[in-house]
Amino acid sequence: MIEIQDLHKSFGSLEVLKGINLKLEHGKVLVIIGPSGSGKTTLLRCFNLLEVPDRGSIVLSDTKLDFTNVKKVPQNSVLELRRKTGMVFQSYNLFPHMTVLGNVMEGQITVQKLPKEDARKRALALLDKVGLSEKADSYPHQLSGGQQQRVGIARAMAVEPEVLLFDEPTSALDPELVGDVLKVIKQLAAEGMTMVIVTHEMKFAADVADTIILMDNGLILEQGTPQEVLVHPKSPRARQFLNRLS
Ligand code: ADP
Repeated sequence: MIEIQDLHKSFGSLEVLKGINLKLEHGKVLVIIGPSGSGKTTLLRCFNLLEVPDRGSIVLSDTKLDFTNVKKVPQNSVLELRRKTGMVFQSYNLFPHMTVLGNVMEGQITVQKLPKEDARKRALALLDKVGLSEKADSYPHQLSGGQQQRVGIARAMAVEPEVLLFDEPTSALDPELVGDVLKVIKQLAAEGMTMVIVTHEMKFAADVADTIILMDNGLILEQGTPQEVLVHPKSPRARQFLNRLS
């Protein structure tokens, strides 16, 4: 469903992605781990073109984008890819002046052009799913970080993306709030949602991932099942990274 080939990205003279290749099937969960600065977030942001790669290609179902020798990516391809992806940010990025319900309805109205009443119905169903029905009329600042992040997940789901992208979804949260957010993500995985997740939560990664990639210095160092990557990593560098965490 997703195939990335030879993806490269530099910021000025700093080459952050040095040739990434990966595949992800529909309904599977890919978790990206690795040291700080290894390029995890940049790779995730390439999935929906918040960062535009310099070279390589991305295929997401029937949308194919080749960045090699391309000066500017056609705007319709950008929009097509964005419509197929939903992003959950580390810092939630909710609209502060809108209610929780308004936040979850917004994309459906502006992007999907759904009638308001339909958007409202879907938003309420999603808020129920993330356990926040009773907060529909609250504003983001009235919620805990964990609750805001669950709204962020409902909002990303609302536009019915083919894949959900999570950028360290729990790293801004107090430890006691992490569990509720991870529970929602695990539930989505069990329902067959295709997801790509950057995280530092190794136990969660082991629980939820079908495939883990361990990045280091702009490249994929290890790629495989949680057992293969976390328990039996092949490279000394990966073992060193994992040992430091335990
Ligand atoms: P990770 O998510 O693994 O911590 P990132 O993808 O955030 O790594 O960053 C990889 C490297 O790219 C870091 O050195 C970071 O400072 C740099 N970087 C990320 N985004 C930008 C940007 N917009 N401009 C310049 N440098 C960036």
